[in-house]
Amino acid sequence: MQGTILLVEDEAAIAAFVQTALEREGFAVEVVEDGRQALACVNQALPDLIILDLILPGVNGLEVCRTVRRMSTYVPIIMLTARGEDVDKVVGLELGADDYITKPFNTRELIARVRAVLRLARSRATMDELDRLRIGRLEIDLTGRTVTVGGQPVDLTPKEFDLLVLLASHPGRVFGRETLLEKVWGYDYLGDSRTVDVHIQRLRRKLEEDPHRPRYLLTVRSIGYKFARED
Ligand code: CA
Repeated sequence: MQGTILLVEDEAAIAAFVQTALEREGFAVEVVEDGRQALACVNQALPDLIILDLILPGVNGLEVCRTVRRMSTYVPIIMLTARGEDVDKVVGLELGADDYITKPFNTRELIARVRAVLRLARSRATMDELDRLRIGRLEIDLTGRTVTVGGQPVDLTPKEFDLLVLLASHPGRVFGRETLLEKVWGYDYLGDSRTVDVHIQRLRRKLEEDPHRPRYLLTVRSIGYKFARED
């Protein structure tokens, strides 16, 4: 299966035409005809993509778009607009729609847009995964340089963060104090290896449930430290 698509369209003829075209391409399509039903569907199970008509009875397409964008999970949205709705198109994109198609459109154009938006969304999801290290209750966002423990943000200094990332991205590998000093502080740093110990202690206090019996940042006697391997 190519993915699930929620189609929100109140004009039955257009809905049927789009549904047939998408199903022929292997997509599973659910059709609803107003915004309220659309939001109910999204709350129940997230589709891979939403095709959303702009002008709907009751809760209109823009409100649906705005509401979906406030959710924590990202779902790609393609807006359907009629000719002459230029202003609304822009607003739709500003609200976070990924693309729009102006009626009337042909199926080939529609399928091409759907595939392009899905491809982009999937590569974005993969990138998000690559940007994060998750170890137990610990989550490290490498791009945002933030750390959470059990979902709670933890305040780290830049050096603490760099030290943690170096260790956590090589679980099980033993690093000597001198190596850590060189890699995190640089060759020309004048401090001694006590600096590493001090930073490890601070990290343990911030990250470990019991800093005296660390679960993540382990001491390797007379050598240095390693990050626990997840078993
Ligand atoms: Ca409509």
